[in-house]
This record gives sequence, structure tokens and C-alpha cells, in this order.
Amino acid sequence: MPQTRFEPFRIKMVEPIRMTTRSERERLLEEARLNVFALKADDVLIDFLTDSGTGAMSARQWAGIMQGDESYAGARSFYRFEAAVRDLTGYPHVIPTHQGRAAERILFSVATRPGDVVPSNTHFDTTRANLEYGGVEPLDLVIAEGRDPRNRHPFKGNIDLGRVEALLRERGERVPFGMITLTNNSGGGQPVSLSNLRAYRELLTRFSKPLIIDACRFAENAMFVKLREPGQGGRSVKAIAQEAFALADGCTMSAKKDALVNIGGFIALRDDRWVEPARNLLVLTEGFPTYGGLAGRDLEAMAIGLSEVLDEDYLRYRLRTAEYLGEKLLAGGIQIVEPTGGHAVYIDAREFLPHLPPEQYPAWALCAALYLEGGLRGVEIGSVMFGKRLEDGTETFHHAELVRLAFPRRVYTQSHFDYAAEVICELKARAASVRGVRITRQASQLRHFTAEFAWA
Ligand SMILES: *Cc1c(COP(=O)(O)O)cnc(C)c1O
Repeated sequence: MPQTRFEPFRIKMVEPIRMTTRSERERLLEEARLNVFALKADDVLIDFLTDSGTGAMSARQWAGIMQGDESYAGARSFYRFEAAVRDLTGYPHVIPTHQGRAAERILFSVATRPGDVVPSNTHFDTTRANLEYGGVEPLDLVIAEGRDPRNRHPFKGNIDLGRVEALLRERGERVPFGMITLTNNSGGGQPVSLSNLRAYRELLTRFSKPLIIDACRFAENAMFVKLREPGQGGRSVKAIAQEAFALADGCTMSAKKDALVNIGGFIALRDDRWVEPARNLLVLTEGFPTYGGLAGRDLEAMAIGLSEVLDEDYLRYRLRTAEYLGEKLLAGGIQIVEPTGGHAVYIDAREFLPHLPPEQYPAWALCAALYLEGGLRGVEIGSVMFGKRLEDGTETFHHAELVRLAFPRRVYTQSHFDYAAEVICELKARAASVRGVRITRQASQLRHFTAEFAWA
């Protein structure tokens, strides 16, 4: 049997990639103050900055776009979207938002108070920032295996139930709900098992706390469960995803991930305790409850994407893509987070650049070097993203220094990945010449988006 798992789609619309030279990239990166977020996308050869909103829509989704109902209130497209979310999640209350962080901001505004603490496996950066903005402490309680880049535990996104229980015993009155991220994006795109989710549910129930899923990659998570969790192999991915939602009380979702669209998000809730204040805030900041900051056509595309993403051939190809690049990097002696997750490969920058101290932001430096070397754009998941400069001028550092190469859905082909692997392996041979960086300018929230750097 042929072993190649080819892209399970044909391409009928293409976007050219403009080639650049190394000396052009040197100038462009200097102009961007060594921050790849400040580069023009046209100056990037292969863009692995994010899988968020960067996917290609299907012919069915584009056809749906033409059927979008742009009525201000009660649009047909909203009801299609609502039905799709209800069918998947079982939650009756569906609130569209323009993207995931708007869902987070609205839910946290109505469901938390300053001084609260919210546990999760790992809060994503916008989730963490939105909680902190409301005076709430985000706690990352992923299992110990999830913090070890070499540990090949099948469900490294699982939450550490012992630590959650200790938190609930000690500060339970300040925990408004528990959260869990499927898959665990900031922890390497690692999945959470159904059995961990069930046990988390039971634990929260004992303390009368709701469970909220950050559902961005629910379908990739469900595919991992099907492939890896004992007893789950015979079930459909859809049934597995539905069970995950059934174990929780609500979710926030960035539809830019597993709803296969370029913009969109939602909150969905089982009971009505937060629904009315959330809708009121939605009207104030996003739009009327039946469009929530989106066009009718966006709602239509989300409804279709939410069912398309459950296609198991698509999901097998999707997970295989990360595994394929990961195998090539490991073969080239490059330490990545193992096993590979769903949407990305994470390179361990400390191992790649052992000569750089934490103050020189090794993962940031590696991002810059990958752009110079081959026009690749990845993102730092390290101390620029998660560290902080404190008021006394000292710094806190993140426990890991990773470069995430995230894969847009249905966009790049196998040869793009072959090229990326070559670039990274060639850079590895000259790693000792890669320079560190220092921050010359930074914002107080989400500083990685806009910070400016110089070579250290
Ligand atoms: C992308 C993402 C978000 C935020 O969604 P946006 O659409 O970018 O605002 C939240 N949580 C996780 C896990 C994500 O991957």
C-alpha cells in the first residue's frame, strides 16, 4: 500500500509567492526591528506565523458565502450557524463574536470578578491577557509530562487534577469556573484525553464549578482521541467531539481555527446564567445578537466549516502534516516538542541555540534567523510572549523557549514542508553563529506583537 498521505483536496485557485533573497531579507528584518510580526506578508516565503484565520476555504464555503443573509436582525445565516453549533456542542445559547478573544473578553467580563483565579491546562496568550485585564489570575496546571519537550506521553495537554483539587480546596471560593484548552496550543498543540476531561468534570462538579472549554481545535483534539485513546478508535470524530462538549457547560471558540474560516468566533453556553449580560455586552461592543460583529456570509461559512472540519481524511492529513515535518527535523538532530501536536511543530530554541542566555531571548532570536535563512516566519512562544518586565526593571522568564511553526489549513503542500525542513536543518549546522536579541521598546500587554529589538 502506498504510504504517502497526500493532500485530500485539489487546488482551483492559487496565490503566487514572491521570491526574496537573503540580502533583501536582512534589510526587511532590520526595518521590522527584528520583529517578524512587523514584516509585510508579501516579504515572507512560507508563512507559519499562525494557523489562525489563514486557511483556505472550500468550494462549498465560497458557495455558502454567496448565500449569506445580510439582514441586520434575524438573518437566515445566523440560524444556520446556530443550528450547526447546537448540533456539535449541544449548548442551546449561541453568541457569535468577531473572533475568539472577543468571546473571551465578553464571557470573562460577566463571569469573573477581580481577585478570582481560573485554572486551565495552559491559557492561550489572549485568554491569559483578557483574564489579567479583569484582575483575574490565570493558572496553568498542565501535567508535568506536558512541560517536558521530550516526553512522548500521548495526551500531554491533560490537566493535573491533583493541582486543580489543591486549588479548589485552598481557594475554591475564588474559582468561578475551570477552563481547558483543546488542543493545548501554548503547550505544543497537545491533545487532552476524554478520560482526563471526564475526571476534570467530576472534580469540578464536586466543588459545584462549571467547566468552560477553549474549543479552538476541538476537531484536531477529537482525532487524536480517536487515534490514541484506548477504546475510542471505532467511534466517529464527531461523536468524540460531541462527548467532549457534553462534559462541559460552555465554550469559547476562535472559528479561525477549526471552523475553517478567516474570521469569526463564538460563545456557547448550556444554561442561561451568563447569557443575558453577555448578550448585553455583545450589543455594546460587537453587534446585535444575531450577527455579533460578523457579516451574514461569515456565519454561513462558519456553519459549513464546523461540519467540514470533522472529515476524518482531512484530519488524518492534518495531523500527519505536523508529524511529517517533525520527523524530518528530529532526523536532522533538532529537538522539537514530541510527539507533534495538531496544528504546529514547536522547535526547542534552548537546544537549538545553547549559547544564548535567557536574557537574549533564544526563541525570538531563532525566529529572526529562520526568516533570514529561508524566508520562513514562525512565532516565539517564550519569554517575550510570556515573560514580563516588572516595575523595578527586572524580568521574569517563561519556563520554555519554543518557536512555533503553525500550519495554515489546506494552504501549503508537501514540497513547502520539504523546503522548510531543509532550511531549518541547514541553519542548525551554523547555529553557533545565530545572534541573540534585546528589547528596545515594548508595550505593557501582549508585548510580542509590537515590541522592537536590536541584536544583543
Ligand atoms: C487563537 C486562540 C484564541 C484566540 O482567538 P482569536 O480568534 O485569535 O481572538 C484563544 N485560545 C486559543 C487556544 C487559540 O488558539
